[in-house]
Amino acid sequence: MTVTTSAQSYGNYIAGAWRPATSGGTMENRNPANTDDLIGTFASSDAADVDAAITAAEEAFESWRITSPIARANILIKAAEILASRQNEIGRELTREEGKTLKEGIGETGRAIQILRYVAGEIQQPSGEHYPSMNPQTLLYTVREPLGPVAVITPWNFPIAIPAWKIAPAIGFGNTVVFKPASLTPLCAVRLVEALHDAGLPAGVVNLVTGSASKVGDPLVRDERITAISFTGSEQVGKELKKTVADRNTKLQLELGGKNPAIVLADADMDHALTHLVTGAMWSTGQKCTATSRAIVDRRIADELTSKLADRIRNLTVGDPLAGETQIGPVIDESAMQRIVGDIDKGRFEGAEVLAGGGRLSDNGRGSGYFVAPTLFGGVDPASMLGQQELFGPVLGVISVDGYDDAIAIANNVRYGLSASIFTRDLGKAMAFVRDIQAGIVHVNSETPGAEPQVPFGGYKSSSSYSREQGKASREFFTQTKTVYIDPPPGS
Ligand code: NAP
Repeated sequence: MTVTTSAQSYGNYIAGAWRPATSGGTMENRNPANTDDLIGTFASSDAADVDAAITAAEEAFESWRITSPIARANILIKAAEILASRQNEIGRELTREEGKTLKEGIGETGRAIQILRYVAGEIQQPSGEHYPSMNPQTLLYTVREPLGPVAVITPWNFPIAIPAWKIAPAIGFGNTVVFKPASLTPLCAVRLVEALHDAGLPAGVVNLVTGSASKVGDPLVRDERITAISFTGSEQVGKELKKTVADRNTKLQLELGGKNPAIVLADADMDHALTHLVTGAMWSTGQKCTATSRAIVDRRIADELTSKLADRIRNLTVGDPLAGETQIGPVIDESAMQRIVGDIDKGRFEGAEVLAGGGRLSDNGRGSGYFVAPTLFGGVDPASMLGQQELFGPVLGVISVDGYDDAIAIANNVRYGLSASIFTRDLGKAMAFVRDIQAGIVHVNSETPGAEPQVPFGGYKSSSSYSREQGKASREFFTQTKTVYIDPPPGS
């Protein structure tokens, strides 16, 4: 395992300057693959820092809202270039901080770069519409205008891509931002904000405040100067945020959990389905909101598929995510590891059969990190905890079904509806699935994860607040509509 001993200190970024927390408090950030590896210390902030950040965002809004979208786009493009010049280095830091493999860390950094580039183009697209009027002399049209200072609150599992896909459209459309990243991944947040600063972003347009949910997140969402909140994280916190803003007019975007099904019909290309089931469920250690969590398989092929799936999952290489041969890294922290191992035990207790993995891995140097063996359950009852609850780890359950109708009923019978896939050669069944599945993102013959920046991202049911992120959808959330009537002066 690689250990870096020289850990740096990082502050908040408020009104264009890096500064320590007002209280002087700091928090450590350690590598989940090896807790001896201290990545850095970060500001452990509180309400005073949040207040300073919101004040800076409010002040900056006055000039940023009328800055040309073309000037804003040029800053995003420059920031993308800066990140691109550091992609491998930042990808490596992401891997040390979050635990996904180096290939995935570099890949996610590339995705953030792609998002900045895409948004730079999107904000230069036509905005608003021209309408006919009852009065032929009236010029009647709409414009989309920014909202004001917005809060961006992000999870740890995509520590640079998710902040980029919220912050780029937020500022691109003329808002200013107070950004509270997950406490477990503040370094990627610092790197993104550094790139924006170096690209010439004016002071106060983005303000970064690191620290806990209670001391930073809570005062941030309660402050009435915040006009909108874009949040990605757990369903439980999403529900709390709804209550927090219920008595004021704050726009709220929630991207929450998933329990994503992959249906495999009897006519599917089995080898292809196996490949996508493994990568969909296990890549990024299963810590994706879109990870495949339920393999819903036609009973006629279930035994053969399950046995081959178990072989492939047992043969995954789990270890130091910085090592080239590693396919699966650690989970994010000790509490996640305990929770996932506990859920695996509950799954056993419920009567499902462990066919691969089944607990913590602490041999071969893995004891100093949070490693969970990629786990496959057979014989999962769709109504059980394993069939219903988001596990957010490297755990996949197989549910056997009697054909398409049974599969779709079980796939839909969960509280979530983020992403879903089907493997089949039958075009009719594929099209029926696209029509019938209750999910915001639907795949035919590919794994459930996937979030290209040019298309909307979000879920049905408890997975989302109906609003969508990315693509053209980002304009909907980060702007409001003004309807304009212009009449000529009398006599002209
Ligand atoms: P989380 O515990 O809900 O935390 C998300 C963020 O919210 C963190 O920055 C956290 O701060 C902050 N936070 C927590 N409580 C808060 C409060 N009361 N007020 C304000 N901020 C608060 O989620 P997580 O464990 O980081 O992420 C995993 C979850 O995210 C999973 O359920 C996953 O499915 C979901 N997710 C969804 C998507 C999607 O697009 N649908 C994408 C990725 C992840 P601290 O870090 O300081 O606690």
